[in-house]
Amino acid sequence: MTQDQMQRARETLQTVFGYDAFRHHQEEIIASLLRGRDVLTLMPTGGGKSLCYQIPAMLREGVGVVVSPLIALMRDQVDALRQLGIRAAYLNSTLSHDQMRDVEQEIAGGHLDLVYVAPERLLTERFMALLDGAPIALFAIDEAHCVSQWGHDFRKDYQQLRILHGRYSSVPRIALTATADARTRREIVEQLGLEDAGVFVNSFDRPNIHYALAEGRNSREQLWRFLEREHPADAGIVYCLSRKKVEAVAEWLTRRGREALPYHAGLPDEARSRYQERFLREDGLIIVATVAFGMGIDKPDVRFVAHLNLPRSIEAYYQETGRAGRDGEPANAWMAYGLQDVITLRQMVQTGDAGEDYKRVSHHKLESMLGLCELTTCRRQALLAYFGETLAQPCGRCDNCVAPPQTWDGTEAARMALSCVYRTGQRFGVNYVIDVLTGKADPRILDNCHDRVSTFGIGADLSATDWRSVFRQLIARNYLEVDFDGYGALRLASACRPLLRGAERIELRKSAQPERSVKPRAERTHETLRSFDRPVFEALRELRRSIAESQGVPPYVILHDRTLRELARTRPESGEAMREIRGIGERKLALYGRMFLKEIGRFPREDLTENALSATVNETLYRHAQGRDAQTIADERGLKVSTVYAHFAEAIEAGLLEARNVLPLGEDEITRITHTLELLEVPVDRRIKPAYEALDEAYDYGILRCVLAGMVGGESGRAQGRSQAVEKHT
Ligand SMILES: [Zn+2]
Repeated sequence: MTQDQMQRARETLQTVFGYDAFRHHQEEIIASLLRGRDVLTLMPTGGGKSLCYQIPAMLREGVGVVVSPLIALMRDQVDALRQLGIRAAYLNSTLSHDQMRDVEQEIAGGHLDLVYVAPERLLTERFMALLDGAPIALFAIDEAHCVSQWGHDFRKDYQQLRILHGRYSSVPRIALTATADARTRREIVEQLGLEDAGVFVNSFDRPNIHYALAEGRNSREQLWRFLEREHPADAGIVYCLSRKKVEAVAEWLTRRGREALPYHAGLPDEARSRYQERFLREDGLIIVATVAFGMGIDKPDVRFVAHLNLPRSIEAYYQETGRAGRDGEPANAWMAYGLQDVITLRQMVQTGDAGEDYKRVSHHKLESMLGLCELTTCRRQALLAYFGETLAQPCGRCDNCVAPPQTWDGTEAARMALSCVYRTGQRFGVNYVIDVLTGKADPRILDNCHDRVSTFGIGADLSATDWRSVFRQLIARNYLEVDFDGYGALRLASACRPLLRGAERIELRKSAQPERSVKPRAERTHETLRSFDRPVFEALRELRRSIAESQGVPPYVILHDRTLRELARTRPESGEAMREIRGIGERKLALYGRMFLKEIGRFPREDLTENALSATVNETLYRHAQGRDAQTIADERGLKVSTVYAHFAEAIEAGLLEARNVLPLGEDEITRITHTLELLEVPVDRRIKPAYEALDEAYDYGILRCVLAGMVGGESGRAQGRSQAVEKHT
C-alpha cells in the first residue's frame, strides 16, 4: 500500500460519503485491508463500521463480498450505496432467476464494488465457482458473533465460513461485530481462523444513550408514562420475553393511541417482513417484539429501546439497547423488570435440555445481568467494565448518576424473610411466604398451621410490594435459591448463614421508578433542535419523505435526521455551504442539493436569533419574544424559574435584552436593587448573596442576577453591536 492509496481513501470519504474525517479506528482498519491484512473489529452500533470495508472494496481491484445473515436488509443497504453512486448489488432468494444471472455476470466481469450475500448462498458450489474466476477485493463477515455457539444469534453456516481462508488465502477478510465479550471474541478468532488478524476494539461507550433500569411495578403504566413524557411521537422498540406478552402490549399501546406492531417468530413471514418494512419507512412507529426482532436493524433514528422483561445477558441487553440512537442523537434505554423475570430466566437456564457447560455459562451471564440491575453505582461504568473497558469517572448521565438510588438497612427484614422460608419448611413460593410474613389468614396457611409459626405476621410493617422487592434482591444476590423441580419453592442458600447468624448486614435498594431519574423531555429535545428551527426541519422532513417515496426507499437513505437538523439549524444558502454539512457528499449534493436549498430558502435567516449563546438560552429567548413571562416559560419547559432568569441574565449581559423588559418589577424597584448592588464593597461576581440579604430576601436570586447583568454587561454588549434580532419579535 502506498500513501497514495490512503490519500484516495480520504478523498472517497469526503466526496462520496460527505464526512471530513475518519472516526475511531476506521483509518487503521482501512489501511490494514488495503495492505491485504485480515482484520477483526469490534465496534458499537453507530460507530461507522460499514465504511471500514466499503472504502477498501471500492479502492481494491475486484468485488467486495459482504456476508450478512440479514436478507431483509440487503435491499436497503444496497439502495443506500447506490444513492452514493457506488456499484452495489445483492444476491438472495428474493431475486428472480434473471436478476440473479445479471448480478453474477456483473461479478464475473468485475463491474461491481460490493455484493451482499447470505452465508448459505456464499457456500454453494455454484457461487464459489463464480468467485474462483473473478477478482475479489475482500471478504467482509458482518455480525461475526453469529459463529458463537453460546450466543443467541448462533448460525451454523457461519462456522463454515472458515473455508474462505483456505480457498482464497490472498484475499483479506474483515470480521465485524457490534458486541462480543472476551469469550465470544476468542471464538470468532478460532472459528474463522483469524489468528493473524489485526484486532481493533473500539470503545463500547454509547454516550448518547441514557440508561435507566428499575424494578417494575405496573410496568405497562410506567412504560406509558415514559412514552408520553419522553417520546410522544418517536420510533422505538419495546422488548418482551414471550409472544403472548408481545401481542398484548402491542394491542394495548394501539388502544391507547400509539401505532404499535407486534413482531415475533410465531408470525407468518409475510407479516414480519411487512412490519419490519413499515418500521423502517414510517416515522413514529413502535415495534413490540421478542428478541427475534432487530439484529442488524439499520434504522438510525430509533429514539428509544424499552425492556418490559429482563434480558438474559448483558451482551443481549447491550445489543438490543444499541439499536437506539445510531445517528448519535440522544436516545433512551429504559427497562422495568420484576421478581417474576428473575425466577423465569433462572428456570429457563436451569431446566433447559442444553449441556452442563452451556448451562453454567448461561447462568453466569444471567447473574451478571442481575448485578447490573441491582447496582447502586454508575451503570455505564459497570457496562463498560463487562466489556473489559475502564471508565475512570461515573458517567453523570445514567439513572444512578442523575438520581443516586437510596438504600436502606435491610438486615432485619432479610432475616425475617429467610427465617420465614425456613419455618415454613422450604416448600413454598414467594407469594405464600409473603402472606405468612404479613399475617394473612389464608385457608391454605391455616391448613398448614403456618399461622402458628413464629414468623407469622412479623412482617406486617412492610407492604407485600416491599416484601417482593426484598425477596427479589435476596434471590438476585443468591441468599435464596428457587427450586424449579419443586414448583418455585424457595430454599436457603449457603450464602445466607452469616446473615442469619448476625455476622453480616445487608443494604437493600429502595424501589425507585425509572421515570424519576430521567431529565424532563423539554430539556433534551431542545439540545438538538431549537423550536424556531422546527418548522424548517418539518418542511425538510416532508421533502425527504416525498423523495424517498418516489424512489421506494426509506427516508434515511436520502438523508439522515442528523443532516436535516444541521440543515435546519444552519440554513445554508449555497451548494458550497451545503457541502460543509456532515452526510452530504458530491453525489447527494448533485441529486438533491437544489431541492433542499429551495425549501430552506422559504425560511429566511433574518428571523433567527443569531448569537453565540447556547441553544437552551435561545429557546428561552424565543419564547420570551413571543410574549411569555419567566414563570410561563419555566412551566412550559419543565425548568425552574430561577433557571429561566439565569438565561435572561446571559442575554442581558450580551446586550440582547434589557432587565426592565423581562422582570416583573417597576422602575423604582429596579433602581432600588441597582443601588443596593452598586453600594456593596465586594467584587462584582460575589454581590448576589449579600444583596439578597440586604434587600430582606424580597427578590429571587435570578432577578438580582438579571439586574446585575444589566449593570455589568448591557452597555458593553450593545457596544459590540451584537444582533438585536430577539427584540424584533416583541
Ligand atoms: Zn452513570
